[in-house]
Amino acid sequence: MENFQGVGVSPGRIIGSVRQMPHPISEPPRDEKLAGATTAEDAVAALRAASKLVHAELKSRAETASGAAKDVLEATALMAADPMLIKGAVKIINTGTSAERAIWEAGASVAEMLHNLGGYMAERATDVLDVRARIVASLRGVAAPGIPASDTPFVLIADDLAPADTATLDPAKVLALVTSGGGPQSHTAIIARSLGLPAVVAAHGVTSLPDGASVFVDGASGLVATNPDAAQVDAVAAWAKTASALSQFDGNCRTADGHLVPLLANVGGAAEAVTAAAAGAQGVGLLRTEFCFLDRETEPSIDEQVAEYRGVFDAFPGRKVVVRTLDAGADKPLPFLTDSSEPNPALGIRGYRTDLTSPGVLERQLEAIALAAAVSDADVWVMAPMIATPDEAEHFAGLCAAAGLTTPGVMVEVPSAALTAETILAPVKFASLGTNDLTQYTMAADRQLGPLAALNNPWQPAVLRLVHLTVAGSTAEAATRGDDAAKPVGVCGEAAADPALAVVLVGLGVSTLSMTSRSLSAVATVLATITLVEAQSLASLALSAPNAIEARNRVRARLPILDQLGL
Ligand code: PEP
Ligand code: MG
Repeated sequence: MENFQGVGVSPGRIIGSVRQMPHPISEPPRDEKLAGATTAEDAVAALRAASKLVHAELKSRAETASGAAKDVLEATALMAADPMLIKGAVKIINTGTSAERAIWEAGASVAEMLHNLGGYMAERATDVLDVRARIVASLRGVAAPGIPASDTPFVLIADDLAPADTATLDPAKVLALVTSGGGPQSHTAIIARSLGLPAVVAAHGVTSLPDGASVFVDGASGLVATNPDAAQVDAVAAWAKTASALSQFDGNCRTADGHLVPLLANVGGAAEAVTAAAAGAQGVGLLRTEFCFLDRETEPSIDEQVAEYRGVFDAFPGRKVVVRTLDAGADKPLPFLTDSSEPNPALGIRGYRTDLTSPGVLERQLEAIALAAAVSDADVWVMAPMIATPDEAEHFAGLCAAAGLTTPGVMVEVPSAALTAETILAPVKFASLGTNDLTQYTMAADRQLGPLAALNNPWQPAVLRLVHLTVAGSTAEAATRGDDAAKPVGVCGEAAADPALAVVLVGLGVSTLSMTSRSLSAVATVLATITLVEAQSLASLALSAPNAIEARNRVRARLPILDQLGL
């Protein structure tokens, strides 16, 4: 048995067989010519065969897929047989160039042409680039890029996953996610939690495991072990029982002494909103609007945006839906808003800052949100990501007012916002703590880097102090106004989905928690076992801990239910 210790980011215990995510396809060398005795005819024949194979493979995958994955696979399958693409490549082969290089160049020209056409056609540019990589893989005889196709379920192992990989990730086939990179707040972790898949990140060495190896994965403790033993087989059976008990949430979350903690959902579009409503979420605490448009080359029209937002609002009539304006940049680039050549994108033009370089996009988005809100029954709140100064908060509140949106708010995910919460909250009506980025920026540790996972931990007492300061800032702001009611401060970062940390956050005075709908029941179950005063004393314990591990251990030791449930 070989053990790999990573960081558990989504609970669940499973045994399954390994499939490694193939490496991205490298660009064939610029001057790659036809090899040896290969004639242009041979190369053309090989290219046609590869294109046919890729087309057939994508088509058969599309047949068994559903939803967004099906759409993506169908569009890509069509592109693989596109006569313009193949004709372009044949022309280049006839100049003596290798089939790999020829399809690479032809793909680039077609993608550029589609991009220049704009609108729907521009969206297909990414499909062409995907197809050319698949054809090159087939010509080279290596595995196609992206999530591997498989008839049987498997444990997916990768360096890290990008948000775009989720489009073809079939949760019926993937039993668990394990990455050698990524941190607890990385997108792999977010994706895994939203799909309810056990996941371990920062598990150094796992990418050397052979396909087909049998592994035990514990998404709570972070252990990945080969050749599972009898105890691990029993642990998997016990988890199956817990998981079915935890799949029920009655929509009501209170501490043992009756203190109400509304639990909301984080969603990336209408389909997730419908699932969240069915799972008992009391509203949406974070609509990541950039997730609705991740594959877009160009700015979505106002009508397209209205349709997307309405889909979410309609799932929650009479309930609160917090829409976050586009948070493009860093690990979520949107071609129409972000500059991919920035040297340090996490500290660059991202989130609200894109209003500096792409003026008008934010106003049009607010207009679309207001139009969708006007024809729905949801209680629509709007917040801006990456707010760093009171001036920015005031400017955003002004834009919301101009659009007729009456409940503006800010995300607190940059330490300066937590430190100046009292002033930042004055022009707006609420704050939502984005603990993923707040941790990354407080600890100066890229949330995507596996080796920094220990720093990138929301249990860091420094992060908890900033949460505490934000709540205190809101109380102080209310006192300045002579009002008893402080403006609400919620949490929508991944910290809210960790049941032990959720207890600490409630103890620190946070008013609502927003998370993937899969975690609602676990968080509610654990919160129901403690009183508000107990949560406050656990919060003090965590705040005064010397480090993140100690903070987590101290709190978990007082919550035995966590181990009982395998959380
Ligand atoms: C956060 O930073 O905590 C957050 C909720 O936003 P995102 O994860 O989308 O950056
Ligand atoms: Mg963020």
